[in-house]
Amino acid sequence: MKTQKVILNSDEIPRQWYNIQADIKMNPPLGPDGNPVTPDALAPVFPMNLIEQEVSDQRWIDIPEAVLDVLSMWRPTPLVRATRLEEVLDTPAKIYFKNESVSPPGSHKPNTAVAQAYYNKEFGIKKITTETGAGQWGSALSFACSQFGLECKVYMVRISFDQKPYRKSMMEAWGGKCIPSPSMATKTGAEILKNDPDTPGSLGIAISEAIEAAVTDPSGETRYSLGSVLNHVLLHQTIIGLEAKKQMEKIGEYPEIVIGCAGGGSNFAGLAFPFASDKMNGRDVEILPVEPSACPTLTRAPFVYDHGDTAKFTPLMPMHSLGHAFVPAPIHAGGLRYHGMAPLVSQLAVEGIIDPRSVSQLKSYEAGVTLARTEGIIPAPETTNALACVIEEALKAKAEGKEKVILFNWSGHGLVDLGAYEKYFAGELKDYSLSEEDQAKSESVFKDFPKPEILSSK
Ligand SMILES: *Cc1c(COP(=O)(O)O)cnc(C)c1O
Repeated sequence: MKTQKVILNSDEIPRQWYNIQADIKMNPPLGPDGNPVTPDALAPVFPMNLIEQEVSDQRWIDIPEAVLDVLSMWRPTPLVRATRLEEVLDTPAKIYFKNESVSPPGSHKPNTAVAQAYYNKEFGIKKITTETGAGQWGSALSFACSQFGLECKVYMVRISFDQKPYRKSMMEAWGGKCIPSPSMATKTGAEILKNDPDTPGSLGIAISEAIEAAVTDPSGETRYSLGSVLNHVLLHQTIIGLEAKKQMEKIGEYPEIVIGCAGGGSNFAGLAFPFASDKMNGRDVEILPVEPSACPTLTRAPFVYDHGDTAKFTPLMPMHSLGHAFVPAPIHAGGLRYHGMAPLVSQLAVEGIIDPRSVSQLKSYEAGVTLARTEGIIPAPETTNALACVIEEALKAKAEGKEKVILFNWSGHGLVDLGAYEKYFAGELKDYSLSEEDQAKSESVFKDFPKPEILSSK
């Protein structure tokens, strides 16, 4: 029997997260006055213990025991060799994936949800508000809040709320409350609905609503939580790559190509940052974030200062952005419809440490079905974007006759996204690509903002 899975024992779980901020130079986030934001300015939005992580330049940060206790419900996750996919592609490449679909909510997102719920609880917070795209983050945070006895209120992008009703049921099963966004419950939402009652919504709008709901709670016991993009979120996800490295070491392997789909950048960063660290220290490894061509943040949008949300509540962040008011085409990979990209991931792209790719919706579903029929797990629509790139790289290795080692992140399963598969099989899904005119229009919003410096960390 071939090696199919590499399993770590419970006591081999990493005890520290890797903070890439220690190893790269970053432009600071800017406040409304054009100056770098101070930790205090973020205090109404996030608890101070998470703000400290957001700005920390300490390379290794201890994972609290209470967080490890909850994570150990499903971690360490398996590293799996995709032998059946290799056979079907007839490729000499060795393909491995980290299976993050085994968590209770079915994705990588609880890695940070659990940590964030813990730090909020420690800080005395009673209730957390958030937004969700496809519903993965809302369900992950509802699950995490249930473990720590916190209330959870989730603003869900309307198009996904309509397409994925069972995500709401999952949130409710874990005690969370789910509201379609834009909603009449906030000033931001009511204003947007007045101008555009049929809007499909966007992550940018939902973030604005969730922040507004947190900072206007008169009790002062509510904070906001974000499931991607921010430094501390990416930090919490590095447990994926740290485990993967140990697992590959156990079988004497090291990846030549590391692949993850990228929406806000967290699952990609989680797998990739520990390898990016090696690359900065001279190791040869290609690192590929993959995004949908309908929302081509890294591959087409410029590196600028822009807001993280539509209503401009957030500081200006140095990132690749299509414009804070960008409403992407209604593709089913709801988690990949964000207008920006994590500043840390953007910085690595600017420095050429990672090499971004984009794929079309139909190509990604085709890859998703191939993986379902080989490795068995039905992938989340987001994950299928990574899979299309994996297949492309495996076929390239075949054409070149090279035994490349490919590692990718299986960020989640698609069992709550079967409506999208149904449409794909009925031939109702189509490709969208962003026209240059629409892109220019949407990017006009940041033309008067300050420009980030092109920094080099080497
Ligand atoms: C949310 C989500 C993504 C995209 O978010 P990132 O922050 O870019 O990881 C990708 N895959 C799955 C399964 C998700 O739930």
